[in-house]
Amino acid sequence: MKLIYAGKAKSLYELDEERALMEFRDDLTAGDGAKKARKAGKGALNAEISATFMELLREKGIPTHFLDYEAPNKHVVKRVKIVPIEVIVRNIATGSLVRRYPFKEGTEFSPPIVEFCLKSDEYHDPMVNEDIALALGVVSSREELAKMREIALKVNEVLREFLLEKGIILVDFKLEFGHDSEGNLVVADEISPDTCRFWDAKTKEIMDKDRFRRDLGDVLKYYEEVKRRISQN
Ligand code: UDP
Repeated sequence: MKLIYAGKAKSLYELDEERALMEFRDDLTAGDGAKKARKAGKGALNAEISATFMELLREKGIPTHFLDYEAPNKHVVKRVKIVPIEVIVRNIATGSLVRRYPFKEGTEFSPPIVEFCLKSDEYHDPMVNEDIALALGVVSSREELAKMREIALKVNEVLREFLLEKGIILVDFKLEFGHDSEGNLVVADEISPDTCRFWDAKTKEIMDKDRFRRDLGDVLKYYEEVKRRISQN
């Protein structure tokens, strides 16, 4: 199969003109790729978790690039043109937000905070406003950014409610968007413990990639627990 693109944790292969196969690898990276590890089974866990979330979004009428889950570690996806903007939604202050601004760790946001960042390891994903995104030419209009924001907030509502029923707090997450062949804006990439922060609702234990970033150990044990909880009815 022809490799279209290999990123830090996933590889994309061509299936045909309309579809691609997205492989979730076992690689884990943090700090724009500065810290690296391989954890056998991580790719399969993320692929399954992300498939569950993408299917949930589909049920709720939110457009995504997801077509099918191919166990253990692949998704069949629509080929899209990725918008080089990461959309971050925050329900609780932590991570880079408390390092960059005088927010107290754990502060709850209502309404949630939405941040746009340029996808660029070289520039460390800097936050951009509408003017910068337009001037860089990474989006074609203010409406496109508004639409990304609106979809991201809807995704937040859907995931937050779903996860809370499973005893998981959705702290924050990152979304990527793409345009399909008809020009529709759709949610792309993955939604997993690599791209979200999850806290146990009771114990507040960290159940996501922060375990790797902060060397807390038992990374896959917690990814496994996320998978277990969200696959229960
Ligand atoms: N995130 C991501 N990819 C990035 C940056 C952030 O998936 O390149 C996710 C991260 O997992 C977290 C949320 O976006 O769920 C907010 O991350 P933050 O800005 O706090 O960055 P960090 O503390 O990871 O540097």
